Amino acid sequence: MSIVLKTKSSAQTVKLGKAIGRLLGPGQVVALIGDLGAGKTTLTKGLSSGLGVDPSTVMSPSFVLIREYEGRIPVYHFDLYRLDNLDQVEGLGYEEYFYGQGLTIIEWADKIKDLLPEEYLTVELSLSDEEKGINTRNIKIIPQGKQYHDIVCKL
Ligand code: ADP
Ligand code: MG
Repeated sequence: MSIVLKTKSSAQTVKLGKAIGRLLGPGQVVALIGDLGAGKTTLTKGLSSGLGVDPSTVMSPSFVLIREYEGRIPVYHFDLYRLDNLDQVEGLGYEEYFYGQGLTIIEWADKIKDLLPEEYLTVELSLSDEEKGINTRNIKIIPQGKQYHDIVCKL
């Protein structure tokens, strides 16, 4: 089971992220997939704000692979755009994050497919081609594992 939604503005993507973020909790992982500009960081602002983080503090880490925010629980924001070697993620002690007390959000998660936990929520973002609007995005949400199925059912 998966669901496909469309948003027509970055504000709508933030709002969708917030709705999903409210349903997420400690030890859960969201894998974001999509090209540059698809809206991964924008969705991360929404997801984080659903957990009580000030969205204006959320931005793509440029020279670090991970940033941490304090909400109701910690939010660990990975951006693996510049990752060229899996050792770099292993060197971060990624397991402490993925299986820890906060929510993990990973941009470019497809780069570390083999390191992801057994269960996680995938969100694939892409520019919509059928519609002309440059602000339209297709957002596909794919749950892996019961905990994430339950979340998708609540959306
Ligand atoms: P990524 O992290 O995937 O590279 P960003 O979220 O940083 O993407 O950038 C997405 C860009 O696209 C932003 O400039 C945002 O304002 C714009 N945008 C336009 N429409 C949308 C939409 N529907 N959803 C998300 N972002 C959108
Ligand atoms: Mg980004």
